[in-house]
Amino acid sequence: MTGWLAIAGLGPGATQLVTPEVTQALAEATDLIGYGPYVTRVAERAGLTRHLSDNREEIDRAGLALRLAAEGKRVVVVSSGDPGVFAMAAVVFEAVDAGDPAWRNLDIRVLPGISAMFAAAARIGAPLGHDFCAINLSDNLKPWDLVERRLRLAAQADFVIALYNPLSRARPWQLGRALELLREELPGTVPVVFASAVSDASEAIDTVMLRDAAASRADMRTLVLIGSSRTRLIARAGDKVFVYTPRSAGVLS
Ligand code: SAH
Repeated sequence: MTGWLAIAGLGPGATQLVTPEVTQALAEATDLIGYGPYVTRVAERAGLTRHLSDNREEIDRAGLALRLAAEGKRVVVVSSGDPGVFAMAAVVFEAVDAGDPAWRNLDIRVLPGISAMFAAAARIGAPLGHDFCAINLSDNLKPWDLVERRLRLAAQADFVIALYNPLSRARPWQLGRALELLREELPGTVPVVFASAVSDASEAIDTVMLRDAAASRADMRTLVLIGSSRTRLIARAGDKVFVYTPRSAGVLS
C-alpha cells in the first residue's frame, strides 16, 4: 500500500461547507488525526482509526501522521477552517523540516477549507472587499509585544483586521487590551463584527461600533472583524445590517 498524508480543512462547522475534495480524502483514509473536537466531526466507519489528541499536542500529532504515512497508511490530519491558517499544515511542515529526511518525499497534500474569516465575512456582507490582514491574538507562540505592534501597524495602514483566537480561559485579557489599542488608532465609529460559531446551530453575529466593542462578547469560537476607516454599514429592517468595505481607497490617478 502506498501511503499518503492529506492535511485537510473541515471548514467552519457545517457539513455543507466541507469541500468534495476533503470528503473524498476522508472516505479513502485509514487514519484520522487531530484535535478531539475536530476529529469527532468526522463520522466513524469500519476501516478508519481515529486518533484524538489534546490541543497542545500538535507536534506529536504531526510526527504520528508522518510515521503512519511512511508505513503506508492513508492519513488525514484535520483542522477547522483552512489547514494553512493558524492550523496543522504549518505544524506538519515544521516536523518535515526537522524530522526524518525520508518524510520529504512522502505524498503530502494540503486540502484547503473555508477559513473562519471567509465564513464570517460572507454572513455579514463583504467586509473583506478591500485590503485586509489576519492576526492570531494568541501569545502562546509569539510575544504579546509583537501582537501589539502588528495590531497598531495594521490599524495605521487601514487594513480590515480579522482576529483569530481572540481569547481563552488561559488568555482572558488580550482581546480587551487589543480593543483598547485599536481605539487609539481608529475612529470609534469603525464597525466591529463578532461572529461566533459561524455555520453551527448556535451561530451568533453581532455588529457594533469600535467604541462600544466589549471583549466579553467573544469566546473561543468567535472571529472578530475590525473594519477599516472605510468599512460601511447598510441598515436593513429589524436592526439588521450589511457590513462591507468598498473596493477603492485613497486618491486614484
Ligand atoms: N484554521 C482555522 C483557524 C484555527 S484558530 C480557520 O481557518 O478558520 C481557531 C480560531 O478560529 C477560533 O478561536 C476562532 O477565532 C476561529 N474560528 C474557528 N471556527 C470558527 C467558527 N465556526 N466561527 C467563528 N470563528 C471560528
